[in-house]
Amino acid sequence: MAKTTQIKKDIEKSNGAVKITTKSTQWNYSPSLESTDHIQLAKRYDLFINNQFVKPNSNKYFDTINPATEEKIAEIAEADEKDVDKAVQSAKTAYEKYWKKLHPRERGKYIYRIARMIQERSRELAVIETIDGGKPIRESRDIDIPLAANHFFYYAGWADKLQFAFLNRTPEPIGVAGQIIPWNFPLLMAAWKIAPALACGNTVVLKPAETTPLTALKLAEIIRDCDLPPGVVNIITGAGKTGAALVKHPNVNKIAFTGSTEVGKIIQKAIAGTNKKLTLELGGKSANIIFDDAPINEAVEGIINGIFFNQGHVCCAGSRLFIQESVYDEVIRKLKHRMKSLIVGNPLDKNTDIGAINSKQQLEKIHYYLDLGVKEGASIYQTDCALPSKGYFCAPTLFLETSQSHRIVQEEIFGPVLTIQTFRTVEEVIEKANNTPYGLAAGVWTDKGSKIFNMTSKMRSGVVWANTYNKFDATSPFGGYKESGFGREGGLHGLLPYVKF
Ligand code: ADP
Repeated sequence: MAKTTQIKKDIEKSNGAVKITTKSTQWNYSPSLESTDHIQLAKRYDLFINNQFVKPNSNKYFDTINPATEEKIAEIAEADEKDVDKAVQSAKTAYEKYWKKLHPRERGKYIYRIARMIQERSRELAVIETIDGGKPIRESRDIDIPLAANHFFYYAGWADKLQFAFLNRTPEPIGVAGQIIPWNFPLLMAAWKIAPALACGNTVVLKPAETTPLTALKLAEIIRDCDLPPGVVNIITGAGKTGAALVKHPNVNKIAFTGSTEVGKIIQKAIAGTNKKLTLELGGKSANIIFDDAPINEAVEGIINGIFFNQGHVCCAGSRLFIQESVYDEVIRKLKHRMKSLIVGNPLDKNTDIGAINSKQQLEKIHYYLDLGVKEGASIYQTDCALPSKGYFCAPTLFLETSQSHRIVQEEIFGPVLTIQTFRTVEEVIEKANNTPYGLAAGVWTDKGSKIFNMTSKMRSGVVWANTYNKFDATSPFGGYKESGFGREGGLHGLLPYVKF
């Protein structure tokens, strides 16, 4: 291990804004690559309908690529309306003939079995998640996959206890759930959707995102190997058109969607006037608030975790930082220092902190906002960490001297980009933090419990973390206010969207 300490400040004028880059102070660790020998991937994946992999009606396939290398990994079937219909019919038959009649204890056993099999195959799933999505192996290994297994364990436990979840009411399943998920936590989002649906006695047609279908297809193999009755879970692949066909299918009784606010609105319009139930978990522009009595070192770590974790591909990323004026200099100094040691690179390397941006299109969107921020007059700060020459990578970025009216402060960027503002009083920061169309999450850093309670009651966010950030647990509900959506996933609350009374 050799330490390279090169600190060079480089101030350049760009469109009137000051750009400051600082050379990394970084330990150069020897590569520690996760092995890929143990994973098995086919060249081509078909649709998972009725516990079988079947060819798509159109015979069309699209490529899924590794965003860290730009290499093709596999071909994925594109489901058209006929395939969607087949999957929904299979889910409907399974619901009526078998799943809703099965004793809840037996349903629970199947869900436990899925959970255990995810655990058994966790190493393989973590590597595939990283290859297909670009996230660091440390995250897929330590966060995504264990949390996905935990979700199945947690909801398996509820299957035969639903009468205790809804006292004095008798919950009934709804029928077929159409579930559409994004690319930022592919297997975890599948678990968030499938586990409560099955526990409550519903059957499922799930559509993963087009850039990250592989772990959902591996989950299909697990479901088949668990001997789940055919049709209880169907996994179909494709892009927006496939998702839209699922949304409008008349035999789908409930839609659960996680993705952009834009598509969420399209879905809401598409099902208006039908009696389909809907939950939406959409975008965010979450505030991370540092008071002057906060433990600053821990807060800096929380800021890093809040925005650079998973390349900022987190709907609840702490992408707006608010620092109380009296500690601004200290926080910024420590934040910049910490950023210099972040390693951006090969997601399969266990030393990597920031992996690949999920797609070329997403990288272009982030670059658009980087240019926009400079044009809007904010100061941009990036360490000059080396980026791999191939693949989609972005250096972690701060925008200093931003204001509420900047678009980079108002719009979701979904990348490792943090905007920074200051505040003086509690009232001021509550007003600024709530001044956004979104309301998914927030973080509050302070030594005072009373301040935390005051903030949590006034922040219009589904989650408020106190002295921590980006902590998830199967037992606690997650979801948004305003344009971040409605409905909750996780915990007891996560059962409600999947039952009727
Ligand atoms: P992101 O910006 O995170 O990619 P999107 O909202 O575009 O989010 O995509 C999330 C999921 O929604 C993906 O699985 C995508 O294929 C699907 N999707 C995109 N457009 C539609 C649509 N019109 N109807 C239903 N699903 C859609």
